[in-house]
Amino acid sequence: MSDKVIPLLDQRRVHAVPALPSQLLAPTGLLSDALGRPLRDLRISVTDRCNFRCGYCMPKQVFDKQYEFLPHSDLLSFEEITRLARVFVAHGVQKIRLTGGEPLLRRHLDALIEMLSEIRTPEGLPLDLTLTTNGSLLARKAASLKAAGLQRVTVSLDGLDDAVFQRMNDVGFPVADVVAGIEAASKAGLGPIKVNMVVKRGVNDQEILPMARHFRGSGVTLRFIEYMDVGATNGWRMDEVLPSSSVLARLREKFDMQPLSASVAGETAERWSYADGQGEIGLISSVTQAFCGDCNRARLSTEGKLYTCLFAHRGHDLRALLRGGASEADLSGAIGLLWGARADRYSQLRASGATTLGDGERRVEMHYIGG
Ligand code: SAM
Ligand code: SF4
Ligand code: SF4
Repeated sequence: MSDKVIPLLDQRRVHAVPALPSQLLAPTGLLSDALGRPLRDLRISVTDRCNFRCGYCMPKQVFDKQYEFLPHSDLLSFEEITRLARVFVAHGVQKIRLTGGEPLLRRHLDALIEMLSEIRTPEGLPLDLTLTTNGSLLARKAASLKAAGLQRVTVSLDGLDDAVFQRMNDVGFPVADVVAGIEAASKAGLGPIKVNMVVKRGVNDQEILPMARHFRGSGVTLRFIEYMDVGATNGWRMDEVLPSSSVLARLREKFDMQPLSASVAGETAERWSYADGQGEIGLISSVTQAFCGDCNRARLSTEGKLYTCLFAHRGHDLRALLRGGASEADLSGAIGLLWGARADRYSQLRASGATTLGDGERRVEMHYIGG
């Protein structure tokens, strides 16, 4: 085992069963948390499995043949996911992102997409329904995903050079297949497509300019993500983070760039456009610039735990309520209570040097609650 990788302590077992409020209040779509932030974005992890072993997410020394992924019976069924999604939407969620693990590994995912695409907001509008994928199966699946009702995709791609990419995914997966997946998604109408590149200093930062050149003018928005200290196994070190400011400086050496204003509140990326009209890029600075102030994202883990922050170490077991016979009003009351009490702002606290984790607590892994 590499000395940097930290063995896993199974924090999936650290959870609480949510309390039901004594008085059940109907959802109004206007729920807000203890810091006044609404609930708009729900990320649902549909599997904890993945066919890649990106070192920053599922280092293969930890997620090896011995690692016990969740048994199928532990996963939320499509009916359970849809039931919860309806309650979240009644509370104000407008956007659902399917993620994982690798979401395209979940069998019959099209059926879930069809079910979710039928949900309407309290105003009668369809959801913004999207999916984040490593792209490995996208060429094969893009058309059927679109037909099922998926609107768009975000594809993770950490470089164009095949050797660099294979080192990043750590399973020898060829970059050409992911590039073909992005093209297939574009042809199928799953746009506007975003491509996420996690930048690790000294590992794939030489790919910043080739990636920018490749996607400039293609209609695809490339977003550079700072390598984050999510989970507890990736051996994260600050000196491997390349700050977004350095990414931008490298881009500005080659291209004339202009800042754009945020298109929606709670947007995670700072947007910049190419002055010659060849599109835009995004910078996601979760390490160097905290953006908790308008964070409106909730995460539902593969087996139905609600996490109110990416850096949480404890989930709230909604599956226990679902399988224990809770009514819609119960579910709505429990979710309302949980979101109403939410005061998470991990990135901000870290930036001010004030983060603490309690005794023996470890943060939840990214592949399990989704990005
Ligand atoms: N397997 C899919 C994929 O890779 O797109 C979906 C799940 S993955 C956990 C979601 C996103 O999290 C990906 O864009 C990935 O690059 C990002 N991610 C995972 N670990 C990260 C880390 N330590 N820092 C920054 N981003 C990370
Ligand atoms: Fe798999 Fe996505 Fe994590 Fe990479 S980032 S190991 S593709 S879940
Ligand atoms: Fe939201 Fe938590 Fe990330 Fe802050 S640290 S932006 S609260 S998920």
